[in-house]
Amino acid sequence: MRKTVSFTRRSANIFFHLLTRCNLRCRHCYINPNQHGRKTLAIGTIERWLALFAHRHPSPNVVFLGGEPTLHPDLSVAVKQSRALGYESVTIDTNGYLFHDILDKVTPKEVDFFSFSLDGPNHEVNDPLRGDGSFAKCSQGIHEAKRRGFAVSLIYTVSQVNIDHLHHMPPLLAEWGVDRFFIQVIGIRGPWAEDECQREELAQVDRKTWLHVIPQVAEAAAKRGIIVTFPKVFLSPHETFECAGLVSANYFIFPNGRVYRCPLCEDYPLHSLQICDDQLVQTPKVNEVDLFPLSIPEGCVMNRIIQPYNLEPTDGKLPSYKIACCMLKEEISP
Ligand code: SF4
Ligand code: SF4
Repeated sequence: MRKTVSFTRRSANIFFHLLTRCNLRCRHCYINPNQHGRKTLAIGTIERWLALFAHRHPSPNVVFLGGEPTLHPDLSVAVKQSRALGYESVTIDTNGYLFHDILDKVTPKEVDFFSFSLDGPNHEVNDPLRGDGSFAKCSQGIHEAKRRGFAVSLIYTVSQVNIDHLHHMPPLLAEWGVDRFFIQVIGIRGPWAEDECQREELAQVDRKTWLHVIPQVAEAAAKRGIIVTFPKVFLSPHETFECAGLVSANYFIFPNGRVYRCPLCEDYPLHSLQICDDQLVQTPKVNEVDLFPLSIPEGCVMNRIIQPYNLEPTDGKLPSYKIACCMLKEEISP
């Protein structure tokens, strides 16, 4: 069954970057320490910041990220504290190295998903993007997590260099027992995106290719019993455009206290909220919130500003498609 996952204000999603440090140097990494800080948050701070959002929204969901969040020695404490504060779900996004014996310190009842990142079905495709040995280490981490009874999801970031290998993923994921598959579109952001050669090589795929390949691969994975989520990316002119910044509650928190509502803004000091002395305060104008209501024929305003390469030239006419909010997803269930 295929459906668009509509935005909702009912549940808040907290994307909590505990640190920006990482053992890998992925070519397309979006982490930007100049903007996000280089601090590793102390566990006391993490607990207070978790409480801030738990008091603001009932039963929010939290995703712990980095950098590599398992490099944080107190990640397991943060997980347990999330549960104690009433967080509805807890996910750990990891590159698979699983530092500090994290699998021994948390239980499948406490962590809903370990979400692993791999960008190819083998080391020949994955490792040039994510680092030597990362395919082997990540697949080993997936097996370890499954063996201990954790639910496992996998994120594959699609760009021009790895889309041709995506169709090899469904059989591999089924063999490994992966429960959910997230196909992601590469974001042209982070320090690497300033380099024109890198930008050309790691470009987003065009609309025709995306629509030809992604739904087919998603269906193939769903047929093997895996729930698949992928971004909508392209909207036809008659489809309704909505900006998640206006109609849902997502918070992207960084160690320097910046809190964004839109991930596409993260390379700029456009955050609308800031944590100061453990209080959430609004930042002065102009910030991302001032951009969200702007209505343009191309759809997402931030996409138009920072990564317009996925738009077609229109010769002054109305575009034949719009770019959806980067948080709008399609889901295919088995
Ligand atoms: S694993 Fe994640 S945080 Fe680390 S370099 Fe890769 S993309 Fe960046
Ligand atoms: S990606 Fe675009 S549409 Fe989505 S929140 Fe950001 S500005 Fe709004």
